[in-house]
Amino acid sequence: MSVEVNTKESVKTSIDVESIRRDFPILESKIKGNPLIYLDNAATTQKPKVVIERMNEYYFAQNSNVHRGVHTLSEIATNAYEDAREKIKTLINAADSKEIIFTRGTTESINLVANSYGRMVVKEGDEIIISIMEHHSNIVPWQILAEEKKAKLRIIPINDNGELLIDEFEKLLNEKTKFVSVVHISNSLGTINPIKKIIDISHNHGVPILIDGAQGIMHTAVDVQELDCDFYVFSGHKLYGPTGIGVLYGKSNLLNTMPPYQGGGDMIRSVTFEKTTYNDIPNKFEAGTPNIAGAVGLGTAIGYILKIGINNIAEYENELLKYATDVLSSIKELKIIGTAKEKASIISFVLENIHPHDIGTVLDYEGIAIRTGHHCTQPLMHRFNVPATARASLAFYNTKSEIDAISEGIKKVIKVFN
Ligand code: PMP
Repeated sequence: MSVEVNTKESVKTSIDVESIRRDFPILESKIKGNPLIYLDNAATTQKPKVVIERMNEYYFAQNSNVHRGVHTLSEIATNAYEDAREKIKTLINAADSKEIIFTRGTTESINLVANSYGRMVVKEGDEIIISIMEHHSNIVPWQILAEEKKAKLRIIPINDNGELLIDEFEKLLNEKTKFVSVVHISNSLGTINPIKKIIDISHNHGVPILIDGAQGIMHTAVDVQELDCDFYVFSGHKLYGPTGIGVLYGKSNLLNTMPPYQGGGDMIRSVTFEKTTYNDIPNKFEAGTPNIAGAVGLGTAIGYILKIGINNIAEYENELLKYATDVLSSIKELKIIGTAKEKASIISFVLENIHPHDIGTVLDYEGIAIRTGHHCTQPLMHRFNVPATARASLAFYNTKSEIDAISEGIKKVIKVFN
């Protein structure tokens, strides 16, 4: 359906934002007496009623352990858990649901790959390439591995707009390169990286690549077969699902050769004190009782998003981004950090002589939730020579009137501090 969603200028989109907002109960909250304006979606997204209700239903009526029981409840729980895996397969167009491994989130997925695949292939003197705009989750696991193996981290630089320098990336690749790990969409800058190009360049050098899709999965359609990435990782909580559940997608030929990350129940075929043999994928990488309710909730969130349509979401968010960029750029004391040509709806900014934490605190009094700090990207903050930024990150339930409200809030901050 096409409706007008803007308070000022009318924009036709296929998103019915008022109806969507009613799906998210938390958006009716008041913060310090003001209606909540939630602009911290890059940190975590809010959950639609269907997700909350589905998780309740699971605990009210279906709770049981998966894979191990012949009784009816266990079968229901197992089916619900495996159905969520199928939904993820559909969302990212994986070739096989066995290539979908449930983890706690992006961080655990990257640690799994670094510890399993990384430890298997990286030797002394080898090199791993990441970029300067990575989240600490896509830096530290590789740093730990590099220290252990006496290998080296090489860093792809960016230009002043916050775009990766692809020529420099190509120069970094050599016969010592064993792995590349790059973010799809920067959580601090909003930059959408040309990951297809980066994947192809890596493969031309025979190097496998992981894409950190923590932000990518919520703003764009992802087709892992078309991308041909070796690994793609994301967290459920940034995709309108619950916390504590996430995904590692990996090509089956790689996952099959990788040693387990954790040992325990479910990941084995047989155990004796002399020798243990391991289960097939995905179970080989899912030791112990998983977050069943989390997986079920994530499956429901994916169903909800697919119904709205990822391309409709991307189109609407892009419209919001354009509007927010125009409105915020008109404030002369404000500087946007991250001005890439290809951007998702994330706007980091600084105000002359005002610390980002002060911006966040004053806006909170207006009911506006933004994030301030280094956003777990300290090397990137150093690159832009700022200790921190204020970040407004928009989702498809945000509106232009909320952007007007943050703009007025920022003007108030400037008045208070100057
Ligand atoms: N990578 C990126 C780009 C992120 O935005 C985040 C979350 N801010 C992470 C990794 C880590 O995700 P999680 O904390 O859900 O594991």
